[in-house]
Amino acid sequence: MGAERIGIVGGGIVGIALARELTLRGLGEVTVLEKEHRLAEHQTGHNSGVVHAGLYYRPGSLKARLCAIGRRTIRELCQERGLPYREVGKLVVAVDESELEPLAEIERRSRENGVPDLARIDDVGRLREIEPHVAGIAAVHSPHTAIVDYSTITEAMAQDVRAAGGRILLGQEVTAIAEEHGRVRVVTPYLEEEFDRVIACAGLQSDLVAGLVGADPSPKILPFRGEYWALSPEANDLCRGMIYPVPDPRFPFLGVHFTRGVYDDVHLGPSAVPALAREGYNWRRISMRDTWASLTWPGAGALFRKHWYMGVDEVSASLIKRRYFNKARKFVPELRMQDMVGKSTAGVRAQAWDRDGTLLDDFAVDQIGRVTVLRNAPSPAATSSIAIAGYLIEHHLTT
Ligand SMILES: Cc1cc2nc3c(=O)[nH]c(=O)nc-3n(C[C@H](O)[C@H](O)[C@H](O)COP(=O)(O)OP(=O)(O)OC[C@H]3O[C@@H](n4cnc5c(N)ncnc54)[C@H](O)[C@@H]3O)c2cc1C
Repeated sequence: MGAERIGIVGGGIVGIALARELTLRGLGEVTVLEKEHRLAEHQTGHNSGVVHAGLYYRPGSLKARLCAIGRRTIRELCQERGLPYREVGKLVVAVDESELEPLAEIERRSRENGVPDLARIDDVGRLREIEPHVAGIAAVHSPHTAIVDYSTITEAMAQDVRAAGGRILLGQEVTAIAEEHGRVRVVTPYLEEEFDRVIACAGLQSDLVAGLVGADPSPKILPFRGEYWALSPEANDLCRGMIYPVPDPRFPFLGVHFTRGVYDDVHLGPSAVPALAREGYNWRRISMRDTWASLTWPGAGALFRKHWYMGVDEVSASLIKRRYFNKARKFVPELRMQDMVGKSTAGVRAQAWDRDGTLLDDFAVDQIGRVTVLRNAPSPAATSSIAIAGYLIEHHLTT
């Protein structure tokens, strides 16, 4: 590819991982354009910090394949750069008989995905050895699921980009992209540049950026906010690593879980409530444009009919603390309401949504001429970021 000029829209972990791979492999002159004044301002800086080991994903899917490579590459990067990487382990707990079948499916997928040292636990004594405060009848344990700080990792990768001659420009919102005579012109309020290729890793705005190049409006982004509660220091020992429920297989989210963060704080979350704006970090942030676009999307009726009960449950848990508490107390009964001391950060997931109402499960990429758009990069895209970068290079940028 030689010294192609490559533009990347978006300075989250995926855009920066891609910029790093391209510059380190000498595949082009790279410029990242990020609309905010710092990197990792959106999903990358507002997530659970989990390095997933690949438990849930459909075997053979991009998520399954790229998560396995991504886990190894993130671990290597953290080791090389001396960044925190703690293998605190994860327990997925079934609390009653009705959850045994979905738990068995998670175990089957995990084994097919090659999750290292996975164990099925049916002995409550063993369960309590791993997590002394947990209640359940069976579990799967993934000892190598880890926690990290994805903002710090993004910064470390950005240093590599700059050191290798790449440019990262902040405060540059891309407002137009046009392909003309084999070149791609990109416009922001402050500059206009030409590139040989452009790749958009724009997270919550990925459908809008795709719209700039005339791509299909579907899948659209449906923003789902995940709210977290911080636990008081007294409740800090309720969880040693990570304790997850068995997720509802009809829904693409993992359910409210306990996570010991990389700096030893324990938090509970994230929930999954429809956000009223793409960057709607609380109920006060409302965008009439975003909300109207979601309500009038062709798939809105189908999604509502399929998931209304789940929506009502999640929204009520957001508004009524006791309902959130009841979800978590099911598998950690010693939790008291006063242990939940305050809503901590929230993150908004960019969940792609088809016009027939389906929530897309796997990572998805569109190619429009010389522009590549990452259309769906939900969890575990932070874990998989370096692997997604490799995939984009192999399948979209060197062909
Ligand atoms: C609550 C929550 C919990 C999660 N937990 C985990 C987890 O534990 N482990 C895991 O692996 N994943 C997790 N994820 C998913 C993970 O955070 C995302 O998949 C990942 O961060 C996606 O990275 P990204 O670079 O694609 O998107 P983002 O981090 O959202 O970055 C996109 C960037 O593009 C920029 N941008 C958008 N439009 C423009 C424009 N027009 N011009 C210029 N810049 C633009 C934005 O400002 C933003 O900085 C979680 C996500 C959430 C929300």
